[in-house]
Amino acid sequence: MAAYPVVHKAPGAVTPNLLDYEAACRSFNWEAARHELSYLPGGHGLNIAYEAVDRHASSPIAGKTAIRWISRDDRIVDISYARLRALTNRFANVLDSLGVSRGDRVFALTGRIPELYVTALGALKHRAVFSPLFSAFGPEPVKTRLAIAEARALVTTTALYERKVAPIRDELPSLEFVLIVDGAGVPDTPGTFDFRQLMDAASEEYAIGPTAPEELALLHFTSGTTGTPKGALHVHEAVVVHNVTGKLALDLHPDDIFWCTADPGWVTGTSYGIIAPLSNGVTSIVDEEEFDLDRWYRILDEQGVSVWYTAPTAIRMMMRAGVEPVKQRKYPALRFMGSVGEPLNPEGVVWGQEAFGLPFHDNWWQTETGGIMIANYASMDIRPGSMGRPLPGIEAAIVQRTDGGVKVIEGADVEGDLALKPGWPSMFRGYWNEEERYRKCFVGGWYLTGDLARRDKDGYFWFVGRADDVIKTSGHLIGPFEVETALMEHKAVAEAGVIGKPDPVALEIVKGFVLLNSGFEPSDALKKDILLFARKKLGAVVAPKEIEFVTDLPRTRSGKIMRRLLKARELGLPEGDTSTLEAARD
Ligand code: ATP
Ligand code: MG
Repeated sequence: MAAYPVVHKAPGAVTPNLLDYEAACRSFNWEAARHELSYLPGGHGLNIAYEAVDRHASSPIAGKTAIRWISRDDRIVDISYARLRALTNRFANVLDSLGVSRGDRVFALTGRIPELYVTALGALKHRAVFSPLFSAFGPEPVKTRLAIAEARALVTTTALYERKVAPIRDELPSLEFVLIVDGAGVPDTPGTFDFRQLMDAASEEYAIGPTAPEELALLHFTSGTTGTPKGALHVHEAVVVHNVTGKLALDLHPDDIFWCTADPGWVTGTSYGIIAPLSNGVTSIVDEEEFDLDRWYRILDEQGVSVWYTAPTAIRMMMRAGVEPVKQRKYPALRFMGSVGEPLNPEGVVWGQEAFGLPFHDNWWQTETGGIMIANYASMDIRPGSMGRPLPGIEAAIVQRTDGGVKVIEGADVEGDLALKPGWPSMFRGYWNEEERYRKCFVGGWYLTGDLARRDKDGYFWFVGRADDVIKTSGHLIGPFEVETALMEHKAVAEAGVIGKPDPVALEIVKGFVLLNSGFEPSDALKKDILLFARKKLGAVVAPKEIEFVTDLPRTRSGKIMRRLLKARELGLPEGDTSTLEAARD
């Protein structure tokens, strides 16, 4: 891997919560992390919504803005912690009045509107299981997920209802209640209600019932990057991890203005777009609009965002547009920038420094882990291209599968399966209705993540690839990320997706699909130049043998490159589950 200089950290105006990584690891224990939370009064357990909302609503920060919502047309709505308590109480009462019970699945299919946040937190108060759906899903993925989970209630908008729910509603016998938030023309179908009317009629008082830390809270479908999405189940105790990672990995301080750009349809948008900032009592920005370069820079500037959590897909788009648009504005409040969801190429880390004067801090986790597990911390030097080091309290290892078990590989610069020692509070407790699939994730006392990684001599972890994407060529194992990174260092290359293409001699050959930067045209000469460039960087074995220019790469709606689709298309094979494919907008 190309050596990028280490990004050293100098002390800033704000002292990081995690000042000394080694010391934090030594002193960390989960009991202390639990103590950061308030727990329900009267010893009634632990409820995510109480930690995120109610405890602040009866504290000196009751009047502070919890959520600052920016509408598509730039209206700003501030919702204080006190107001959020009242609204979520109302919604919990609405569920109660309908007869929705503890453990029933309550879904949301909306854009990023305030009602989504009220639904999520109100459902958690009521001890229902909340599950968010991405609003860009078509009727088929909506139906599949509602059916798998036997959803009992759904909150949506008129437009989404008409396009995505009405056509399939007959096929969902368990879906008894559909609540339409914008009230306009609620259809005269039994079981269909006007959200606002029900909210207006509901009381602002609600007593959260006893909630065991192990009570089911959230059902999150994975991104479907490698196959059919899985429904990962999380419990209320997950909030311990949301809260502590907000502090340690995102360095949230009480006065922060935090912006997580992810949609709550994905786990990041719930764990860090809803729960972590609120449990930490900060102000969280919610933008209704999709990615838009100038708009994003304006929000960062005008809202005085201090901690920003985004994703490589957006960073790559910003990089393509260059530093100039960034420099049009100033971001004096911005202190920490994080990235998650896909490997962040070292170029991206360095570009952050050039454009914003701050590096992006990559961190790694999965739907299944519920919260950040490996991270680059505010106080820690960054090795660009590395995911960082395990969260204090998390034991991560590189292991090798053996017959019937796993072997931990000790030492420096080792590569293999990335595994975590089970037991952290936000660990998934199952895949919905897929017991066998869940069981298979645990081998020899470890949770196997399905990702391959390398650990260097100082304990930094480097992403190699997903086990399913690894390329086997002439007796070597190659992670696509390394090849993609090298390709992207060529000045003409904006993005790359790399696969193994079956080959009678080498088993597989490395093939790269390349998206060019603006100003570059596909040509045989350019192809040759890129191939040569990669060969110089990577050596003949690892470098691609073939390159194809493309105008787009298949991505999930959360922005991840779907290499399995590149491969299926290359080989003329069926594409499999494409419900989360970005281009498949209906
Ligand atoms: P599916 O499991 O359905 O194939 P998915 O794995 O993409 O989908 P998520 O749980 O949303 O679903 O994503 C987690 C995965 O994303 C990780 O296992 C890893 O492969 C990738 N990932 C997340 N963060 C990073 C990161 N910082 N660096 C590299 N890869 C990352
Ligand atoms: Mg996965």
